[in-house]
Amino acid sequence: MTVPSPRKLIIAIDGPAGVGKSTIASRLARKLGYVNLESGAMYRALALKAIEWDASFDDEEALLKMAQDSRIKLDATLGGNRVLLNGKDISARIRERDVTEAASRVSVHPKVREWMVARQREMGIGGGVVMEGRDIGTKVFPDADLKIFLDADPVIREQRRLDQQRVKGAPAETMAAELRERDRRDRTRAASPLVAAEDAVLIDSTKMREDEVLHRIEELVERQLAARR
Ligand code: C5P
Repeated sequence: MTVPSPRKLIIAIDGPAGVGKSTIASRLARKLGYVNLESGAMYRALALKAIEWDASFDDEEALLKMAQDSRIKLDATLGGNRVLLNGKDISARIRERDVTEAASRVSVHPKVREWMVARQREMGIGGGVVMEGRDIGTKVFPDADLKIFLDADPVIREQRRLDQQRVKGAPAETMAAELRERDRRDRTRAASPLVAAEDAVLIDSTKMREDEVLHRIEELVERQLAARR
């Protein structure tokens, strides 16, 4: 008789911008042999389409229709997610400043979120995923096997973003102000605001090195897996 292997976990990592979620999620997924999915990249893809089509970021119905008419694909690679919009690789473009700002605006709409959440569930439901975003533990996978809420002091997050240089073409003060504004929008929107799920493990990474954060999460994963054996 063969012993069934335990189901692969669904791991949710949420937290504000610049906290290092993508790097941690991608390293964790690689170690576990899981797939890392950046849910924010989907909002970014829609934002790019809205920019290209000159659509208003406030027009919920138009944005929903755009999302419904799009094929947004996330390909997990060793260097992070490769993002395809209707077959076109938009991975680099969606990290630019205008798209970053627009993504934070298109994501406030409940109907857009509902559509995104449904797609994200389809992608992760089989397990073996580390999905990161703002509402993974609260809305996308409220029954995730492990929920992490990663946080850090805003000043540290701004510095990390600067070091990453993922948002190019802006002076440091402008970038910091934009990050704070996106944070405010994420935390105060009516639909799925950024909050830690009640059963999430909170990790404040302000004074932690990336390796330490990763190690802490690995311990939690190991505990989950051990409980299933
Ligand atoms: O994580 P990332 O910075 O790529 O996300 C881009 C934007 O998409 C965020 O500023 C946030 O407003 C939105 N987002 C969201 N829910 C998620 C992931 C991202 O609202 N699960």
